[in-house]
Amino acid sequence: FDLEQLGVHDSVASVFPPEELADFLADLPVSVDVIGDDEISDCDAVVTIEHREAFLECDWIHSIQAGVDRFPFDEFEDHDVILTNSTGIHGRTVGETVAGYLLSFSRRLHDHVANQQERQWHRPEWDEAFTLPGTTACVVGTGTLGRGVAETLGSLGVRVTGVRRSEEPVPGFEDVYANEDLHTAIGDADFVVVTVPLTDETYHLFDADAFETMREDASFVNVARGSVVDQPALIDALESGAIRGAALDVFEDEPLPEESPLWEMDEVIVTPHSAALTRDYFRDVGELVETNVGRLEADEAFTNRVV
Ligand code: NAD
Repeated sequence: FDLEQLGVHDSVASVFPPEELADFLADLPVSVDVIGDDEISDCDAVVTIEHREAFLECDWIHSIQAGVDRFPFDEFEDHDVILTNSTGIHGRTVGETVAGYLLSFSRRLHDHVANQQERQWHRPEWDEAFTLPGTTACVVGTGTLGRGVAETLGSLGVRVTGVRRSEEPVPGFEDVYANEDLHTAIGDADFVVVTVPLTDETYHLFDADAFETMREDASFVNVARGSVVDQPALIDALESGAIRGAALDVFEDEPLPEESPLWEMDEVIVTPHSAALTRDYFRDVGELVETNVGRLEADEAFTNRVV
């Protein structure tokens, strides 16, 4: 297709100012503008976070997120619309966020921050604090996020195991299990970290059985998508003591509703789908868009193509 007009949809403002990305792309041999819903029909291509019906009239849509579970793949295909995502840019950011969660659990930082709000000088129980070397984290999904998590946790001395479709080894993972052996893999881990995309196959992958299989002193981390987890089953597991704690960046319902019991649990860290945020986000997305505009000009296949 001919690319003349590229729009930066104003929905990306939830992650960075749209103008920053438009400025970054200003040297491209196409016209780049920040657009609202009314201007979608003027564009051949749009960079966006949210889906709009009007995108079906464009040639190319680029998602600034890696997860594209909100986009209707079938309709894109029927209308010959290309969909690309931003997989590949979140390994370090999400890896550092997960390292932060684990350091909070081991060094009790979340307790200290909570106590500080109350001006309370409380030291942890003698056996509450620990160090990370000697612990094991089982990372479910060994793509960009999984590898980024493995690298940062590995550098902190955590033994990292992985779960993927096949048992084939992956650098940074000491042991790799196939999906069929998920429960064996998570059964002896101190931390279970979810980094798989949300698909029909992974919907509610973490259910009551999975939490029952985890150790009672283990903590669960979800930086993937809320619906990979049966959230009521997770809440039950936390309340009954089937697992010790959780760090959650994503939820079945976002923003997490005010009445959710997760907000008030001492061993639960809630972050607002912010694990991948960085002031460089617009640049990382911009480089992906530049690459694909270059490929389009050179008549080469797009990278990160989903549909
Ligand atoms: P990726 O494509 O690099 O990696 C996904 C990996 O999961 C791939 O290795 C794939 O083979 C594997 N996979 C897919 N289905 C599987 C299954 N059924 N069983 C086992 N493995 C399976 O994507 P990524 O950049 O690592 O992102 C993964 C997901 O994390 C995204 O789809 C998105 O939903 C989520 N995400 C969340 C944030 C955040 O801010 N919290 C940021 C980026 C990505």
